Amino acid sequence: MKAHDGMYIGGEWRPAAGRDTIAVVNPADEQVIGHVPAGTPEDVDAAVRAARAAFPAWAATAPAERAARIGALRDVLVARQDEIAETITAELGSPLKFSRLVHAGVPPLVAGSYAELAAAHPFEETVGNSTVLSEPVGVVGAITPWNYPLHQIVAKVAPALAAGCTVVLKPAEDTPLTAQLFAEATADAGLPAGVFNLVTGVGPVAGQALAGHDGVDLVSFTGSTAVGRQIGAVAGAAVKRVALELGGKSANVILPSADLAKAVSVGVANVMGNSGQTCSAWTRMLVHRDQYDEAVGLAAAAATKYTPGERMGPLVNAKQLDRVRGYIEKGVEEGARLVAGGPEAPFERGYYVSPTVFADVTPDMTIAQEEIFGPVVSVIAYEDEEDALRIANGTVYGLGGAVWAGEESEAAAFARRMDTGQVDINGGRFNPLAPFGGYKQSGVGRELGSHGLAEYLQTKSLQF
Ligand code: NAP
Ligand code: MG
Repeated sequence: MKAHDGMYIGGEWRPAAGRDTIAVVNPADEQVIGHVPAGTPEDVDAAVRAARAAFPAWAATAPAERAARIGALRDVLVARQDEIAETITAELGSPLKFSRLVHAGVPPLVAGSYAELAAAHPFEETVGNSTVLSEPVGVVGAITPWNYPLHQIVAKVAPALAAGCTVVLKPAEDTPLTAQLFAEATADAGLPAGVFNLVTGVGPVAGQALAGHDGVDLVSFTGSTAVGRQIGAVAGAAVKRVALELGGKSANVILPSADLAKAVSVGVANVMGNSGQTCSAWTRMLVHRDQYDEAVGLAAAAATKYTPGERMGPLVNAKQLDRVRGYIEKGVEEGARLVAGGPEAPFERGYYVSPTVFADVTPDMTIAQEEIFGPVVSVIAYEDEEDALRIANGTVYGLGGAVWAGEESEAAAFARRMDTGQVDINGGRFNPLAPFGGYKQSGVGRELGSHGLAEYLQTKSLQF
């Protein structure tokens, strides 16, 4: 894998301020595949200065020109799709087929949607005797995780660019090569120097310096609730805009009228895809008491199809592996019944766990409350619809979810009562324009579509 040994700042690859590097590891075989520089506060400062310098001119470009650059960026992402998929497979470990379809397939859709929105958005509106202007917030500090490494970058950078903001990105230390590829793509797309800048590094150093930098006007963070809380506090103290996309513990609610086999198999696939490392994964499967045993059997059978090393990749690193195995052990300790998988590692090498299904899970168990971020499904029985709703809403999170019923209208009526930001009805398809984000402790703000664009805009009204 090709790795740059510098930071992408002001339109060029510049030597890092310090000497420390981060080793990038392939989680499938634990081999080091490259090194990138570990950014310091000095690197962050240089990148923020470059973004500030580029801001006035970029903010003043016509929306059609910004749309054209974002469209060019989409085209580069399409042209380099194979290389992107291979890079993500190498540093995240997802099977190449999944990398192609999802990790490399979704970002061009999102970039394309912002090319269109940049051109079509009403940046000026008349309200009675006022003209209301939507202006870019300024310099954006974007901090992203490793689980959807390119999607999470594009879901922040594309709307920021559409709004007229400039960006400094600090990507996850586990997946910096994808971020370097993205930086190359912004250059290929003809973005002016300084509009997009990249500082690789670790969270507590480079990430913290970026979140706390005076020259950053908005911090957009995706990752754990623990770090999100700290970033929210720092931003609050500085009266700075902040968007937080945090964890989840989403429910897959299967109503008695649903096609049970389909709801279970799609539900299991939703969790096993990306090895369970999806913030909105439907990790709690809620099934009516009368259908419980049948659903447990179907879920166990569906899970065993996700053979580690073939249909399912490893977890991203050794720490996540320990964490997930710890949760599986905790589930057993608290009295849940393993019907597939378990805490034993399937291979000696690589950070793999087996696809795991727990039955006899009660809503208060640790595995039903905390985000595991691994391929673990908990099947929970409910007595009636009110009970299902109480269980579905009974965590501190509210990011995603699913409802299945014989009729869409029945499922939608249930979904309206859920305390969560996004619900798929009978297996609804991904929509790059649908706002994505959390209720409760799953976050603040929305990404994607026009709601995602609005995060990067501030309004000014002129009265006549
Ligand atoms: P994390 O530590 O919150 O990482 C997210 C991003 O924040 C990374 O770029 C990280 O850098 C950076 N960061 C870490 N500490 C920071 C700080 N003090 N100030 C500023 N930035 C900081 O998450 P993680 O360690 O990768 O994963 C831990 C857990 O978070 C997972 O098990 C999962 O529950 C959750 N998670 C959720 C999502 C989601 O999409 N909602 C995504 C990933 C993880 P480093 O890469 O150097 O840590
Ligand atoms: Mg971390």
